[in-house]
Amino acid sequence: MQTQTGTPPSRTDSLEIAIDSTRMTSELQTLSTFTSIEPSSKGTAVTRIVFTPDDMRARAWLKDLARSEGLTIREDAVGNTFFRWVGTEPDLSAVATGSHIDAIPHAGMYDGTVGVLGGLEAIRALKRSGARPRRSIELVLLTSEEPTRFGIGCLGSRLISGTINPDRADGLHGAQRGSEDETLAQVRTAAGFKGPLSTVRLPQGHYHAWVELHIEQGPLLEREGLLLGIVTAIAAPAGYRFTIEGIGGHAGALLMPDRRDALCAAAEIILSIESHTLATGAIDTVATVGICDVYPGAVNSVPSRVTLQVDIRDTDPARRESVMHAVRRDVVSIATCREVRISEALVNADNPATCSPHLVGVIDDVCRGDGITAKHMVSRAYHDSLFMARISPIVMIFIPCRGGVSHRPDEYASPADIARGTRVLAATLGKLASE
Ligand SMILES: [Zn+2]
Repeated sequence: MQTQTGTPPSRTDSLEIAIDSTRMTSELQTLSTFTSIEPSSKGTAVTRIVFTPDDMRARAWLKDLARSEGLTIREDAVGNTFFRWVGTEPDLSAVATGSHIDAIPHAGMYDGTVGVLGGLEAIRALKRSGARPRRSIELVLLTSEEPTRFGIGCLGSRLISGTINPDRADGLHGAQRGSEDETLAQVRTAAGFKGPLSTVRLPQGHYHAWVELHIEQGPLLEREGLLLGIVTAIAAPAGYRFTIEGIGGHAGALLMPDRRDALCAAAEIILSIESHTLATGAIDTVATVGICDVYPGAVNSVPSRVTLQVDIRDTDPARRESVMHAVRRDVVSIATCREVRISEALVNADNPATCSPHLVGVIDDVCRGDGITAKHMVSRAYHDSLFMARISPIVMIFIPCRGGVSHRPDEYASPADIARGTRVLAATLGKLASE
């Protein structure tokens, strides 16, 4: 059964594009059941770590859906999966869309999944409209956008774009709490993705265009009462790890003047990061210490070692670096005053991406044709599109999410907003495929 949404079909290229919103809602719900956490009363809590049984079940389900649409399926050595609707001129570079289905622990059910299931529904809607694309249209499921398991985000798109050395990637350790420490090479092989990671890379120009549909993960669209965002740039994230080594001891016996408490030093570093980030005065500079591992982690033991993981991002990489510069000056004095050893490691530092003005213009046209006021905006969150930009012109479509909430069980995007974004995606893919 096909159910049309309350908004009129797209007039783009005189195609009658109707989105099956009921089916999309039901597919999003089905996908959210492939999780290791039971749905909670606060919303659907999803935990889907890459290459776990939940992730593999979700992949199998998605491949079945794509197969029933007659899409060709290719999987690469890291599990990126390519679903292709072959165009009438299959030798031309394809138009691609896609996102991710992995989810951080206790996350929501819309981050990434809207782009994957939206891409599938966009293809189905174009097929129903009678479109025969000149260029092939490809939906791509990208592996491990979230850094949960291997400590670095966007593994699949980094490998596609040659942003990470394949040997380094294969050696990444994927320790999960309570399980054995394994490398990416071991984990992906066990999941059935074999062959050298060097084969994952795609050449510059492989795609005619890349368009990713995603929830905003911020409050701006909702706050301004706008229905859709067109991303013009993606902020540049960087990750750092600080290891603080002090001296441990008995919480009762080790006297205060003799302490070299690693956690107290870590607390000063965290506050230094916050204050220097605020001091830029720029709304686009954000920094977070999201991981603080304390050793030995006992209530009656003075912490001897602490690891902090810092995520700092900005649209301006120089400003981002200036914050870290100021933090490093503090780190030197904290180490001296507290007589602890502090080392810093760069986990990753990426350049921002600029979206293609042509693609932004195509989506502007689609929105104008549909009577949608779209907002041009910067993406401050991290997306695979950041890396796809190395091999293809890119653009992103944002839809509102309630309260700007994401990476939480109460993350929510309405069926109407999802359908609208999907219809704009479908019309955009249709236009680009005829170029
Ligand atoms: Zn995402």
